[in-house]
Amino acid sequence: DRQAAIARAADLVRRTRRNVILSGAGLSTESGIPDFRSPGGVWERFRPIEYQDFLDHHPARVEHWRYKRETIPPMLQAEPNRAHQVIAELEAAGRVSVVITQNIDSLHQKAGTQRILELHGTNAEAVCLGCRERTPIEDALAQLETGIEVPQCPSCDGILKPATISFGQPLPQRVLHAALEAASGCECFLVLGSSLQVQPAASLAGVAKQYGAQLIIINLTPTPYDGIADVVIHAKLCETMAEIARLNGQVTLT
Ligand code: NAD
Repeated sequence: DRQAAIARAADLVRRTRRNVILSGAGLSTESGIPDFRSPGGVWERFRPIEYQDFLDHHPARVEHWRYKRETIPPMLQAEPNRAHQVIAELEAAGRVSVVITQNIDSLHQKAGTQRILELHGTNAEAVCLGCRERTPIEDALAQLETGIEVPQCPSCDGILKPATISFGQPLPQRVLHAALEAASGCECFLVLGSSLQVQPAASLAGVAKQYGAQLIIINLTPTPYDGIADVVIHAKLCETMAEIARLNGQVTLT
C-alpha cells in the first residue's frame, strides 16, 4: 500500500548516496503554478511556440511574448513549497548530489538548492538571438510595458527570446551531458512530479535504471516508466516528501 511504498522510498533515500532528482511541473503545482497537462492550463489559450517559428516570423515572436507577459509575473511571485524545501534539506545533508529539473520557475533555487541542472532553461532571463547576451527577464518585461512587442537586446538591439527551451529547440548540450552523467552514475534516481512524456528528459529515468540505480517515481498520475520503477507512489508531493523527511528524522522547517 501507499504507506509501505513511502517507507521504502524513505529507506532507499536514507541508505544511498549520490542520489539524483528529476523534477517536473507537478512539483510546483502546490506553489500555485499550473502544469501543462491539466484542464484549464495555459495551452487552452495559447498554442506552444515552435523554435523555428520564433526565429522566422515576427507575429510568432509577438504571440510568444504576449504569452510570457501573462505567465511569467505570477511565476516570479510564487514561493517554494514543502517538497522543494525537503529536497534542499536532502542536498544540504549530503543525500542528493544534483537536481535535474524540467521546471523554468527557479523555485528549487529559491528553496536553497545549490546544484541544479535546468534542462528546459529558465524564465528568469531572456537571451539575445544575435550576441547571446542574457538580460534579466524583468528588464525584458519592462520593455513590453512601454508598448514594444518584441523586447530588444540592450547591447546589440538584437531580438530577445525568453531563455526557455521551445519545442524544436535543442537542449543546452552541456546541461544534457551533465544530466546523463548524473543519471548514469547515481545510486537512486527520484522522479518527482513529471508525466515523463517529454523527451529527452524522460529517458533519463531509463538511463538511471539501466546503469543500476534504484528508480523511485512520485507522481499524481501514472507514467510510462512506472513499470520499470522500484517504488511508485501516486500521491501529492508536499505530503509525501514531508512524510519521507519525517521518517528519516530530517530537521523540519515548518
Ligand atoms: P507535465 O505537466 O507533463 O506533468 C506534470 C505531472 O505532475 C502530471 O503527470 C501530474 O499528474 C503531476 N502532478 C501535478 N500536481 C502534482 C502534485 N501536487 N503532486 C504530485 N504530482 C503532481 O510536466 P513535466 O513532465 O514537467 O513536462 C512539461 C513541460 O512543461 C516541461 O518541459 C516543463 O519545462 C514545462 N512546465 C514547467 C512549469 C514550471 O516551471 N513550474 C510549469 C508548467 C510547464
